[in-house]
Amino acid sequence: MRRFTEGKLLVATHNAGKLEEMRALFSPHGIEVVGAAEMGLEEPVETETSFLGNARIKARAAMEATGLPVLADDSGITVDGLDGAPGVHTADWAETGNGRDFMQAMTRTWTELEARGVPEPRTAQFRATLLMLWPDGHEEVFEGVAPGRLVWPPRGQLGHGYDPMFVPDGGERTYAELTAGEKNAISHRARAFDKLKAKLG
Ligand code: IMP
Repeated sequence: MRRFTEGKLLVATHNAGKLEEMRALFSPHGIEVVGAAEMGLEEPVETETSFLGNARIKARAAMEATGLPVLADDSGITVDGLDGAPGVHTADWAETGNGRDFMQAMTRTWTELEARGVPEPRTAQFRATLLMLWPDGHEEVFEGVAPGRLVWPPRGQLGHGYDPMFVPDGGERTYAELTAGEKNAISHRARAFDKLKAKLG
């Protein structure tokens, strides 16, 4: 991966957990990490049809506002029996007009699988794309995929989003029945992150 000469990296997220993860990753390399909120940045509207496209929207908006190199991410779940939906609309399926309700999103996902009569196993993948963007437009992309299957009813109290209905390959427990440590060892985000880490040396 290209070296940082600026010594400072803007992580284009308003999520404090993601920011801390990135800070821990980059600080041993002498790279200071700053977050979108502390730079007073707005969250741009994600209008693209791919995870990479939406990560690029977030990265470009942050880079244009600050002139700093940026790391942005986008993620979601793709369901084979729904032709890849909800995909980039993963969070949208949870919108209620009064905050996000992931039980609503999971119910819609299962209802559409039932309506189409999709046979089991109802395979799906959690996907994460990380994009590094330098001020001169140079980009590097790291993608992580966690394959698995969907189950009903949802199970488990841990995690977030669609975790209670997703069983990763190689096990019987849902993402929401795994501890944070267990999930982080196999998750889509961890896989993308590991690729980035390998490039940092
Ligand atoms: P974004 O990457 O912050 O745009 O988030 C996309 C959406 O994907 C989130 O709101 C969650 O609904 C979903 N998502 C991404 N990663 C996970 C995960 O690890 N578990 C459950 N849902 C996830």
